[in-house]
Amino acid sequence: LERYTAPIDDAHGARIGRLVVLRDVTREREVDQLKSTLMQTVSHELRTPLASVVGYTDLLRTRPLDESSRAEILGTVHREAKRLSSLIDDFLDLQTIEEQRLVLALASFDVGELLAEAVAVFAGQSEAHRLELRPCPTPVMARGDRARVAQVVANLLSNAIKYSPDGGVVRIDAECAEGVVRVTVSDDGLGIPVGQQARVFEKFFRVAREEAVRVGGTGLGLALAHDIVIAHGGTMGFESVEDTGSTFWFTLPTN
Ligand code: ADP
Repeated sequence: LERYTAPIDDAHGARIGRLVVLRDVTREREVDQLKSTLMQTVSHELRTPLASVVGYTDLLRTRPLDESSRAEILGTVHREAKRLSSLIDDFLDLQTIEEQRLVLALASFDVGELLAEAVAVFAGQSEAHRLELRPCPTPVMARGDRARVAQVVANLLSNAIKYSPDGGVVRIDAECAEGVVRVTVSDDGLGIPVGQQARVFEKFFRVAREEAVRVGGTGLGLALAHDIVIAHGGTMGFESVEDTGSTFWFTLPTN
């Protein structure tokens, strides 16, 4: 609370009381804190890939390079530019969701098919991990915004890969019950310390641990994923043991 006080005098200058104004500044402090985190994240996460795009394109312009070096550099520039673009998408998504403008394009889609697609994309990108998909025994249809649900799955897969060592196995399971499908993504990676688990779905939150911080990120992915699942009428949670692994799950209503 911010406190402001002032004396109150009558017309003859005699002190008759004191005015005390108490103002709750919690919300303002929170906004300030958020702004400074945002600035830090933007400067760190945007500048690193940008610096590499600038540096590498300069190299391409000014140096005679053989075909294979050019291809390698272009590959890096492309990857960094994609990283920038997905970062900006996250920031914009966050703003949309914060202002409660998230519009879901609802349609019926096959959950198993969506999971298989996501697994194929990540398997193609990361050969260092083995992805094991166990879909529901029979096709299951959910009603939702397929692209947004794919974003949730991609975030969980990308985290499972990012925060577990090379050679690790990532398991993706779909379990079906009456009216609901539950998707689980487990890894045997870094895990999340018990003391920090309560904050995992907060925006910008990142586990304060050297091994986790070293991996790039904005701390926005899970906050967005959580909001998207809730908007679909689902639930999301996780279990995690430090240095052993994590299991993130979400549910979606099915039709
Ligand atoms: P980030 O961009 O940092 O990956 P997320 O919102 O996706 O942001 O995740 C927030 C934080 O939660 C991460 O920084 C990481 O510390 C922790 N985390 C998320 N998923 C996992 C996981 N599978 N294993 C260990 N830690 C995780």
